[in-house]
Amino acid sequence: MRNRNGWQRVVVEGAAILKGMAVTLRHLFRPPVTVQYPERRPRVAGRYKGRHWLTLYADGTERCVGCELCVIVCPSQAIYVKAAENTPERRVSRGERYAEEFQINMLRCIFCGFCEEACPTGAIVLGRDFELADYRREALIYTKSMLQEPYPGASGRDPNREV
Ligand code: SF4
Ligand code: SF4
Repeated sequence: MRNRNGWQRVVVEGAAILKGMAVTLRHLFRPPVTVQYPERRPRVAGRYKGRHWLTLYADGTERCVGCELCVIVCPSQAIYVKAAENTPERRVSRGERYAEEFQINMLRCIFCGFCEEACPTGAIVLGRDFELADYRREALIYTKSMLQEPYPGASGRDPNREV
C-alpha cells in the first residue's frame, strides 16, 4: 500500500465512504423488492427446476419404461426404479417394461435436472413446485403414487409432446 499523508488519506477514504453511501441513497428511492410470501406467491423462472413428476401420454399410458437411465445419471443417487415386464393382458407403458416401483429421495436431490435430460421418453420432468419441506424424513421419499401425475397434462407438460 502506498504511503499517503494525512490529507490524501482523508480525501481517498472520504471518497470511498461517499461512493458507498451513494449506493444506499440510490436504493432509498426505489420501490421495495420484498416478496409478500406466502400471501403472494412468487413467480418462478420459466426453466425453474422444482418437484418431479412422472408423466403420462394423452391416453393415460405411462411414459416411463423402467430403463433406469435416470438412476445411472443421478449424481446424488436419489432415484430407485424397480422395473417389471408388460404383458399382453396388462400393458402399463409403451415399451417392454414399466416402472413397478419408482422412488426419489428428495432429501438427496439437488434439482440438477439430469434425470429429465437423460430420460428417453420424457417420462420424468421437473415442475415448478418448490414448497417441499416436511417435518418427517420418510415423507420426503417420494413414491410412484406421489410422483405420477394424476391425469395426462396435470404436471403442466403437454401429454402429446414427443419427448
Ligand atoms: S434432479 Fe438431479 S439429483 Fe435430483 S433426482 Fe434428478 S438427477 Fe438426481
Ligand atoms: S423416468 Fe425415464 S430414464 Fe427413468 S426409468 Fe423411466 S423411462 Fe427410464
